[in-house]
Amino acid sequence: MNNDIEAVLYSQEQIDRRLDELAAALTNKYHNQNPLVVSVLTGAMIFTSDMLKRLNFRLNVDLVDVSSYDGANSTGQVKLLQDLKSNVAGRDVIIMEDIIDTGRTLKYLVQLLKDRGAKSVAVCALLDKPARREVDIEGDYVGFTTPNEFLVGYGLDYNNLYRNLPYVGILKQAVYAN
Ligand code: 5GP
Ligand code: MG
Repeated sequence: MNNDIEAVLYSQEQIDRRLDELAAALTNKYHNQNPLVVSVLTGAMIFTSDMLKRLNFRLNVDLVDVSSYDGANSTGQVKLLQDLKSNVAGRDVIIMEDIIDTGRTLKYLVQLLKDRGAKSVAVCALLDKPARREVDIEGDYVGFTTPNEFLVGYGLDYNNLYRNLPYVGILKQAVYAN
């Protein structure tokens, strides 16, 4: 285990098993459709690619990059850094996200896609941290409901580090207190 990690919360094996279940649920729902899978960069990259290999039906893939800012008055603001290439009008869209925290990022994205005429928008998130929620949004497909800790690995970063850990772990507080 990496020295900066307090504890492994979800091992590679646990993640693999949960992804099998999520993929089965998505396949059950979408196997007769042709959804657009939208991965939210950069954190959802590994989750998305591991899920895509399990989704055995016709689908398209696109990427979006957003950043959420916490201003001095802590009103979270979401900014679109890289837009989709696809036209989502009339499409069934599945958003793949690493974690739902305050919920601001997903609330913004779901609204954006609906405003552009998406037929349906579903949220598939590896992790959900409900203790931190500030806006009204729920994941439709959620891997794990997590405790209120700062998590890294399996795509999730701190200062763009630790994304390559094959598990989700709790980052030692000493690392971000530095
Ligand atoms: P939101 O607060 O808008 O729901 O989440 C915004 C983003 O914050 C997430 O997509 C994720 O990139 C990041 N985030 C939230 N909680 C954590 C966490 O525990 N660890 C890491 N590495 N990123 C997080
Ligand atoms: Mg993110």
